[in-house]
Amino acid sequence: MSINYLQSANKLGVKNFDVIVIGGGAAGLSSAVWCAELGLRVLLLEKNAELGGQLLWTHNQIKNHLGIETENGRELRDVFVRQAENFEFDICLNAEIYEIDLANKTILLENGKKVFAQAIILAAGVRRRKLNVEGEDEFKDRGIIESGKRDGQLARGKNALVIGGGDAALENALILSEIALTVTLAHRRAGFGARNEFLEKARENPKIKILTETTVRRILGNERVEAVELHNPVAKQTQIIPAEIVLVRIGVEPNTNNLRGVIDLDERGYIKINSSCETNIKNIFAAGDVANPLSPTISSAVGMGATAAKVISSRLNM
Ligand SMILES: Cc1cc2nc3c(=O)[nH]c(=O)nc-3n(C[C@H](O)[C@H](O)[C@H](O)COP(=O)(O)OP(=O)(O)OC[C@H]3O[C@@H](n4cnc5c(N)ncnc54)[C@H](O)[C@@H]3O)c2cc1C
Repeated sequence: MSINYLQSANKLGVKNFDVIVIGGGAAGLSSAVWCAELGLRVLLLEKNAELGGQLLWTHNQIKNHLGIETENGRELRDVFVRQAENFEFDICLNAEIYEIDLANKTILLENGKKVFAQAIILAAGVRRRKLNVEGEDEFKDRGIIESGKRDGQLARGKNALVIGGGDAALENALILSEIALTVTLAHRRAGFGARNEFLEKARENPKIKILTETTVRRILGNERVEAVELHNPVAKQTQIIPAEIVLVRIGVEPNTNNLRGVIDLDERGYIKINSSCETNIKNIFAAGDVANPLSPTISSAVGMGATAAKVISSRLNM
């Protein structure tokens, strides 16, 4: 038994499946493994070239997923994939969905191929929220970094700016303060969502300057980031501060743009489900962060995948 990896949808032979899983993160992999375990024919569609989802951008240790501790998300991803390879299902990487007809359980892929199933599990997860300001795309990887832990060395002797007010922003500001010349933390609100432990450490840190009620207007530079324009609407002040390193941590948003108006979503765009992980459309399920704004964790994602698979199996085998 093994996974049949298809690097592109062109290689897709069979078009009819019991279950199609959209997304190859923790929730999608768990869904696919459980469906295969229960004897269902499964196709997993992942839009990236690699499986793992957020595990690929987790550079911290993972100590809270029961059963295993790993140095980072990629290591856990490798364990998940090794285990999944003991089961038989199809995986299509680089799969771009053009149209999804949930009522008829039909998905049209970018290359014109159509796939069908009796049930679909939506496990498309979340993406980092962007600032949507000038310079953000232009300076990606040219001063705008992804992670304090992974890219922190680039901040040696430089001025860093971290944007956000949650745990991730504060934690990254503290990590960067060990290497950078200065760290400015800009947060759009007066109060912080971050835990007190991080906040106190940041406030006591002489290298970290905290600016509240402050938003980013533009990221400026030539070849690389050189400065950032900040705005405080309360004080009605705009200032340009030097910053050669910028890190944005302003939360995440669900990957549900293509589902607006098609399926019930909450006000933030997360998929609404019942305790069986089923959406408002019969035999359309959702698992993991895309349907779980309250406890987005690896354990929840894995559990929701198993729940969806079990419910589908009992229904299809009735
Ligand atoms: C820095 C960081 C640290 C974390 N630390 C922990 C921790 O210590 N413990 C813990 O439990 N959790 C932690 N988490 C959260 C945990 O990683 C997530 O809750 C979990 O990985 C969510 O898995 P998921 O499968 O629901 O979604 P994702 O991991 O977001 O996977 C979704 C997948 O769907 C794919 N996709 C999206 N749209 C489409 C589409 N249209 N077609 C096909 N594929 C699509 C994406 O490419 C992605 O691969 C952390 C997260 C981050 C970012």
